[in-house]
Amino acid sequence: MYPSEVIFPGNSNYTSESQHYWSATCYASPDCVFTPSTAEQVSAAVKVLVKLNATFAVRGGGGHMPIPLYANTNGGVLIAPTALNTLQLSGDQKSLAIGPGNHWGAVYKYLEPYGLIVVGGRVGTVGVPGLLLGGGVSFYASQYGWASSNVISYEIVLANGTIATASATENPDLFWALRGGGNSFGIVTLFTVKTYPSPQVCVGDITFDRSHKTEFLDATANYANHGALDAKSATVPAVVVGSTSYYLLILFYDGSDCQPAAFSNYSTISTLSNNGYGNATTLGNYASESLFPPGRRELFRTVGGLATRETLQIMNDVVVSTAEQFVGTIDGFTVTAAFQTITKDMLQASASAGGTPQNVDINNAPYFWVALTYEWLNASDDEMLHTSADGAISNITEQLTAAGLHSSFLYMNDAGADQNVFQNYGSDSLSKLKSVRDSVDPNRVFTDLMPGGWKFADL
Ligand SMILES: Cc1cc2nc3c(=O)[nH]c(=O)nc-3n(C[C@H](O)[C@H](O)[C@H](O)COP(=O)(O)OP(=O)(O)OC[C@H]3O[C@@H](n4cnc5c(N)ncnc54)[C@H](O)[C@@H]3O)c2cc1C
Repeated sequence: MYPSEVIFPGNSNYTSESQHYWSATCYASPDCVFTPSTAEQVSAAVKVLVKLNATFAVRGGGGHMPIPLYANTNGGVLIAPTALNTLQLSGDQKSLAIGPGNHWGAVYKYLEPYGLIVVGGRVGTVGVPGLLLGGGVSFYASQYGWASSNVISYEIVLANGTIATASATENPDLFWALRGGGNSFGIVTLFTVKTYPSPQVCVGDITFDRSHKTEFLDATANYANHGALDAKSATVPAVVVGSTSYYLLILFYDGSDCQPAAFSNYSTISTLSNNGYGNATTLGNYASESLFPPGRRELFRTVGGLATRETLQIMNDVVVSTAEQFVGTIDGFTVTAAFQTITKDMLQASASAGGTPQNVDINNAPYFWVALTYEWLNASDDEMLHTSADGAISNITEQLTAAGLHSSFLYMNDAGADQNVFQNYGSDSLSKLKSVRDSVDPNRVFTDLMPGGWKFADL
């Protein structure tokens, strides 16, 4: 069946498919790779895999979730979406159909001539499906909510091979579950998402010397509570510790006014460098830049807190003191901690769009959600660095809890494998996810035969 879509070890494309991952920790050795180009081929593959009781994995267009075997397999079949690369704007230009083989950079470039955007990743190489199935925090979050709140419909291959549609009117419970419930329901073969006009944006990054810590953290807390009320603005403030150490600030504004009042708190801090912020451009241009290149070893962890100055101080100080122990001793070592601002506007926009399984408490917003990334080169350092990252997260959690500043939600797409993602969706949400999964996949195909990814069946 479909011999030209099956790639075995030794074929020239085998390595590029089995190593199409951001983190080298995710490279694996599937028995073969299946590269379907239609939903019918995905359906046929699922039926065969179920009949043979064979294990498999599904990768998205980016392979960017840095958890080994969450989107790859040793010994099973890897379903790679490379040829599921549809990009089709509707006749009225209000929606875009996106195949799961796409990454966000390709999506934004496709829409650029129309002056349109969709709500998706902030880095172009990130894949469409993983981001949308976990939720998706975007530059447009305060305007339009979770990226997944802007999905109009999903085409999905279920465990019995049925090609189903999930939308507000067809299979609405499955539609809700796919907005943040991960990959336990089937293989999504098409996302149809809303488009919005955004012909020009201001986006780029600025760096600051670490000696400006106080001003940087002051400005970041200030932005979260005041500047961010301008929903067209977004920032990604971060501390970077490695062979060079600095504060990084990605600035975004939806429109051509690159000096909005929202960012005024940062304007008094002298900068180290400015990488592209200041002139209006397109999201497509920005997302074509090669930021955060693939091929090194990476891990993610996350933790959240109320968006106060004290929260930031705790997060920053723990990350810096933990990371500094390894600088100069571990090959290729860099730690980046982004302090993402999650606004009330974002959560309100998602609630208005029908809600999502994540169920983040809107009353205590805004929040800072840390996206902690460790990067290094050698497998021999894996264990020590995972232990270090776990220690940093525990330390931050303890200090925030003691100060009454901890928030329990953990964003799936920034989390490490041992973090309690679904437990923090709340018991109502978790039991609804389970009942949707039971109804579409009673034999646990996408839990047991496809073990990679965030699963909740046994929680
Ligand atoms: C450099 C970088 C920047 C990032 N920026 C952002 C950001 O701005 N906002 C944000 O919210 N997140 C961001 N992330 C996190 C990102 O959302 C997750 O890593 C996400 O999982 C990536 O999606 P992917 O398709 O590339 O992942 P993959 O690793 O390919 O897949 C992730 C999961 O989705 C499952 N999956 C993939 N395709 C399908 C499918 N068709 N059907 C069912 N399940 C499927 C896989 O089995 C796997 O479990 C970033 C990550 C990195 C590394």
